[in-house]
Amino acid sequence: MVSDNKFQLVTTIRSKVTDSLIGNDYLGGKQVDKMDTIRSKWLLATFAIIWMSGCYPAHIPIVQKPITWDSTRVQLSLQYLRERHGLDVDSPLIDPLMVVVHWTAIPSFEGSFRAFYPSILPGRPLLQSASALNVGIHFLVDQDGTVYQLLPEDHFARHVIGLNYCALGIENVGDNDGHPLTNAQLKSDIRLIKYLLKKYPGIGYVIGHHEYREFAGTPLYKETNPDYFTEKIDPGDAYMEAIYRHLPRNRVTRRYHPNP
Ligand SMILES: [Zn+2]
Repeated sequence: MVSDNKFQLVTTIRSKVTDSLIGNDYLGGKQVDKMDTIRSKWLLATFAIIWMSGCYPAHIPIVQKPITWDSTRVQLSLQYLRERHGLDVDSPLIDPLMVVVHWTAIPSFEGSFRAFYPSILPGRPLLQSASALNVGIHFLVDQDGTVYQLLPEDHFARHVIGLNYCALGIENVGDNDGHPLTNAQLKSDIRLIKYLLKKYPGIGYVIGHHEYREFAGTPLYKETNPDYFTEKIDPGDAYMEAIYRHLPRNRVTRRYHPNP
């Protein structure tokens, strides 16, 4: 008796649900199955999400924290492009072909940010002899993984000899003297690089700063003085290999290739 009542109750509920789904909606005299409509909408939404994820960069939180971009920086950037890269251009803008990963060799975010902030290079005689333009960078990643943007992505920044004219730069707060790069930075760097790869189809290289000399002598490397080099160890092979494990191998490389 109890089970009969249960059966009746379940049947009643089912029938009510069905009535509400295949109900009184008509379109041009044709009954509309609400369940089909819901399914169609879900399918459309799913396709839209898949399509958009392929076309647009995934969201990545980036804190805007600009360094100085004044007429002095513009003029010195144009001079650097002309005298160092041999490129006579009207505006100091770049078309990125490469991402270069660094560490700042400064243990704090504040100290790192201060180093990039002014337009004119303070100290560092070897670099000063090549140009008075201060070093600059597009992104600075703190040890907790927070990503800061210091310059717009199409602005020229001095951070890698011979390749600045085509290289986006990512600096990570840290050094090899007690402040190693963290897993949070690694994770943020990977997300940031994937975001940049989707946004800029022309990027075919992702390298560590310590690898830049591999490009000397290739058509990509533009430095008017063949003896102007600095020795770099940042961020090291282990860090770059950890990044590379998460990047599409058919898309980027660490060595020059005529058709990257
Ligand atoms: Zn570096």
